[in-house]
Amino acid sequence: MPAIRRRRPARVVRRLHVTEKDFMHQVMDLAKLYNYLIYHTHNSQRSQPGYPDLCLVRPGRLVFLECKTEMGTLTPHQAMWLAVLNDSVPGVHALCVRPSDWDQLVEWLR
Ligand SMILES: [Mg+2]
Repeated sequence: MPAIRRRRPARVVRRLHVTEKDFMHQVMDLAKLYNYLIYHTHNSQRSQPGYPDLCLVRPGRLVFLECKTEMGTLTPHQAMWLAVLNDSVPGVHALCVRPSDWDQLVEWLR
């Protein structure tokens, strides 16, 4: 008897297949909902490579986020920025987030 394959609910599948840009805008909407001030570099052509997509600030909290699709990979510069920011000052958080991290992100930014 073949094993029964469990399928993900359609809602979850749809959410995991967003583009990086759409996901980033969802994250920005979430951050606005939780009263973060948001910075995003719209045109990074002449900026340092790898700087995180989003900087979120609220009293007592400074968060840098690099948004990726489920299969997206960090460039070496992006990984370096996240590591250096994380090690910079206690309380500063820098991480790579993906659509599958959504539930954790909601809890974390709350
Ligand atoms: Mg990105």
